[in-house]
Formats: sequence, C-alpha cells, structure tokens
Amino acid sequence: MTDTGWVADLLSDTVTRPTAPMRRAMAEAEVGDDVFGEDPTVRALEERVAGLLGHEAGLFAPTGSLTNQLGLRLHVDPGGEMLADALAHVVRAELGAAAVFSGITSRTWSSTAGRLVAKDALAMVTTGVGPYQVETQLVVVENTHNFGGGTIQPLTEIRALRDGLAGTGVPMHLDGARLWNAHVATGVELTAYGQLFDTVSVCLSKGLGAPVGSVLVGSAEAMARARVWRKRYGAGMRQAGILAAAGLYAVEHHLERLADDHGRARRFAEAIAEVGPYVTLADVETNIVMVDTSGTGRSAAQVAVAVGERGIRAYPSGKDRVRLVWHLDVDDAGTDAAIAAFREVLGQGAG
Ligand SMILES: *Cc1c(COP(=O)(O)O)cnc(C)c1O
Repeated sequence: MTDTGWVADLLSDTVTRPTAPMRRAMAEAEVGDDVFGEDPTVRALEERVAGLLGHEAGLFAPTGSLTNQLGLRLHVDPGGEMLADALAHVVRAELGAAAVFSGITSRTWSSTAGRLVAKDALAMVTTGVGPYQVETQLVVVENTHNFGGGTIQPLTEIRALRDGLAGTGVPMHLDGARLWNAHVATGVELTAYGQLFDTVSVCLSKGLGAPVGSVLVGSAEAMARARVWRKRYGAGMRQAGILAAAGLYAVEHHLERLADDHGRARRFAEAIAEVGPYVTLADVETNIVMVDTSGTGRSAAQVAVAVGERGIRAYPSGKDRVRLVWHLDVDDAGTDAAIAAFREVLGQGAG
C-alpha cells in the first residue's frame, strides 16, 4: 500500500504492510474488552490457532518474544534451567528476557545451521541432582530456525527428543515463529508438530503478514496461568479484536501462499550459487537465504550497503553473513532485481 522506497525489502518478513482486505477485516472486527475475556475476535483467533496446532487453548499477545517468554515462565522456576540451540532466538534475540523476567538460566548446544540433533540436546539434560547442580526444566526447539537460515527441524529428531525426555518430566516449548513455513514446505501437519510440544508460540506478524501479534498455545490450565502473567507484564489488551482480526485473516488467506516465498528464495539462491560459493543450497529450505560474503573481500555490512544502493534491503546478520527474507510484499520482479544486485556486488571483489 505504501511505497517503501525499496525495489525489494528483504530485511525481514516482518516488514509487510497489511493488505486492503486485511485492513477491512480489521475495521469490521467485532470487539469487546479482552481483559474481561469479552472480545469475540480475540477468542476466535485463540481457538482457531489452538485448533490448528492440536492444543486445548490459546493466548493472543502483541509479540512472539512475549509468547515465548510466557511459555518459558510457565515451565521453569527461578534458578531453573532451559536448554536451547546456541543460535536460538530465545537466547540471542530476546535481550536476556528469560533471565531478567523469570530468573531462568540457560545452557546451549551447538548446531549446524540450527538443525536439531536430539542426542546433543539430551546429553545436556540434568535432572534429579538435588541441591548440587541446576535442574533442567525445559528444552526449547525453534522451527523454522531463524539464524540457521530458515532451516526445518526434522520430525524424527523432534520425536527422538520427546522420547528421550519422556522419563525425565522435562517439558518442551516450540518457538514456532515460522512454523507455518515448515508446515507449508514439508506438508507435515501443524498438529503433528504441535502435539510433540507442551507449549507452542507462533507469529502472525512474520510471513503471514499481520501487522501485530503472536499466539501461545497449550493446555487450558497453562493458558489460564499465562493469561495472569500476560496482564502482569502489562500486555492485557482491551479491544484487541482489531488486531486479532488481522491474524485471523492472515491464517485464512496467507498460509498456503508461503510456498511462493519459498520458491522465490530458492530461485534467488540458485542464481547466486551459480556465480560463486556464496550460498549453501541445502540450507535454503523456506523463505530465508543466508549469503556468505567471506572470500569476497567485503564484510556483510559492506555488501548490505552496496546492494542497498541498488534498491535491495538485506540484513547483515553476522560479520560475513547477509540474511534475506522473502514475504508477501516481494514479487518476481523484486526477486530478479535482488539477483542482479547481488550478482553485481558479489562479483566486484574488494573496493
Ligand atoms: C521473530 C521471532 C520471534 C518473535 O519476535 P517478535 O519480534 O518479538 O514478535 C521469536 N522467535 C523467532 C525465531 C523469531 O524469528
């Protein structure tokens, strides 16, 4: 709707603007005071997303960081431990919230491109150690994996993790900010992922294109407790149906089209891989592409500036890694322009 000035804004799939029909759905939403549980649109969204993931109840919140943090808080006592991948959003990109808000300590396992290897996580689980060591109270899995480059967690590894934890009583939380992408890319049912976890957080504001919002799902009892903490954190919203309507619209209309983003990301990656060792094609599974700038004589930041001058916005997510994310506001022409810009810049060498 609004001209952003970019030929293709691949900074993130959070940059999308609500479409005209989404805005209409928002304008026409039935609303009430959600702190009193009286907003029918919020309730409908919570029920819809819980149903999609095969859980009893849902809780709407403004951000995925908050739905993650509510999930972590439900499972881990102050001083208890969560285990996560070293590249996980919950340990790298939520600004220490688990420690600051909930007194949670973290240990991390290493991965390749964020891919879960169940035995690496299970090797770290520490339970029944009395007053001597920190108790593991939660394992967090991220799917798809953001800093891993949109990689998909193998269902077999998630199941192996679940089976390995079975005797320990340690629950599992899924940071499913982009679980939608994993579902569309693999055809694995959302419920098949959902049922392996005690709580799941999903974002509506990433590739689905809603302006705001995430949903946490779990048991009705867990969601009742999360509702208390959401209010305590200051995120009990009133006529939030205006926002939930965008999320409902997104789930109904923008889920299947994620395949288009995956196709464009793939096409970009293949075109760039043709001209040099800049992309690991096996890691391009969904809507994210990581471009490796080492060996070009330029840092990721310099490459991002250079493509920026050609109208392409990309995110330097490491010293030699540029991240690009496809979404519903980037079309085939934008993808072609990104291919041309990257080919030109990567081919130039230092200078
Ligand atoms: C975006 C994202 C979140 C939540 O981010 P918010 O900006 O707080 O909505 C959580 N996990 C992952 C993996 C993400 O990419």
